[in-house]
Amino acid sequence: MPVTVVGSIAFDSVKTPFGQRTRMLGGAATHFALAASFFADVRMVGPVGEDFGEEQLDVLRRRGIDVSDVERVAGGETFFWAGEYGWDLGSRETLETRLGVFADFEPKLSPGARESDVLFLANIQPDLQRAVRAQCAGARFAALDSMNLWIETARDSLVRTIATVDCLVLNDAELRQLTNKPGLLGAAREVLSWGPPGPTVVIAKQGEYGAAMITASSYFSLPAFPLETVVDPTGAGDTFAGGFIGVLAAAGVEAIDEELLRRAMAYGTALASFNVEEFGTERVARLTAEEIGARVAELERVTRFSDAPIELRG
Ligand code: AMP
Repeated sequence: MPVTVVGSIAFDSVKTPFGQRTRMLGGAATHFALAASFFADVRMVGPVGEDFGEEQLDVLRRRGIDVSDVERVAGGETFFWAGEYGWDLGSRETLETRLGVFADFEPKLSPGARESDVLFLANIQPDLQRAVRAQCAGARFAALDSMNLWIETARDSLVRTIATVDCLVLNDAELRQLTNKPGLLGAAREVLSWGPPGPTVVIAKQGEYGAAMITASSYFSLPAFPLETVVDPTGAGDTFAGGFIGVLAAAGVEAIDEELLRRAMAYGTALASFNVEEFGTERVARLTAEEIGARVAELERVTRFSDAPIELRG
């Protein structure tokens, strides 16, 4: 099943303790699409500026991503984001955000992009996400990501948009901020109560600690894949979402159940771990199917344990 994704398509300038890059290909939709392309056909929707070249589009095309709904706006400037990470990569400061062509973007999806059964609203202004959701009214599984900026500046719109999707994928701290609930489970339960229809799956991304998935009847969590060296965490969350949603799309909406959701979490976790090993899209752009399979198998090994009776003292 194809996946349609809308979200930022960007140039990113990033500084980490391991180096820096200026104006590399980035954006939430970009990281998502590259990861999801290992599992399903991906259609990317969004505007770029005149400064966005064939070189950037080719990175996407080489992974088979359909970029016919990526609109180049004459005289426009591509979304730009600059950020800097702290010494242990655990904290990040946004230095600059320039919406550029997203400021006046009015989504007009092609018939092909509207037809996808699976929709991912990657991080961007929530009004835009809702406009795309309305055009893909037939999508049978829609998911959404967002961030603190939109919680702080457009919360009402964001809450309305979340009520139109099946799955919310959000950073752990942002989930608590959004719901004003101090605990993860309470925050997830709050989101699950929005609707109907509203989300039935909530995923809390926990950075280097992995991700947790909460539904009305279940809880599942995976650690991040253990890595010796992390170079640039930018886009890890979007890459996770691309792997996660890609697995669901490949299996088909009717096949979504707890087992499949858990397997999708494992693939999302594996994809994210590759993304952080190098700057920007560098690592995922040349990733192979074999590498993904091997890492998922290794993730299964490092998370497995067997329960056997232990003598307990009363
Ligand atoms: P993540 O590391 O998962 O938070 O995603 C980083 C990506 O999000 C970068 O490639 C940025 O271009 C993009 N990004 C940063 N700020 C925003 C924003 N306000 N809206 C949409 N995308 C953003």
